[in-house]
Amino acid sequence: MRVKKRKGAAELIASRPDIVATERTGWARYFGNENPVHIEVGCGKGDFVVGMAAKHPEINYIGIDLQETVISFALDKVIESGLTNVKLIYGNGRDLNEYFDEHEIALIYLNFSDPWPKTRHEKRRLTYKDFLKSYEKTLVPNGEIHFKTDNRGLFEYSLASMSHYGMVFKQVWLDLHKDEEFAQQNVLTEYERKWSEKGYPIYRMEAQFDAQQ
Ligand code: SAH
Repeated sequence: MRVKKRKGAAELIASRPDIVATERTGWARYFGNENPVHIEVGCGKGDFVVGMAAKHPEINYIGIDLQETVISFALDKVIESGLTNVKLIYGNGRDLNEYFDEHEIALIYLNFSDPWPKTRHEKRRLTYKDFLKSYEKTLVPNGEIHFKTDNRGLFEYSLASMSHYGMVFKQVWLDLHKDEEFAQQNVLTEYERKWSEKGYPIYRMEAQFDAQQ
């Protein structure tokens, strides 16, 4: 979803190269430690990655988004949090293999990805097979994708696409917020807050690449 352009977003991003990367870098050096790195492709305004980083100081998080305005808002949140284990990439999730070495990433999150409902836009969906291929290359062997959405069509498509690809599902939720146990660990995204407040069920899955294949 497009957001209204923010004045000064480009300058803000350019002023914090220590938090927003626009190209490949040595990530362990960037974070100042060798902790596992988890990424969110399409991080939006950053609630999820910042919330996760606060909860899991032993993990490094990177939020990636292709909208300048959105990344600039995420940057505000990272700065405000004072956390050093969360960074951003202003760039396209299509280019993961340019940003990361093979098997460099421990876990990929996709949250409320754009649904692209028209069949002719299938290739833009973040769970289209070409994306899965680059995720597989970027992730550690048997790496996982954790995906949340309110969009049933995209969820069904993603189950089919991942299944065709040979991924296995560790767990699937058809109404995440009814799971009280999960709720205790769940970090809400901006979209998740918005849609669940309106009463929409949230779908979630944990899917894993099968290294035997
Ligand atoms: N994850 C957030 C935002 C969801 S909206 C939340 O749950 O609230 C989807 C976001 O994905 C938008 O900000 C959009 O700019 C971003 N996006 C879409 N395609 C992308 C791509 N190929 N690479 C990086 N970001 C992408």
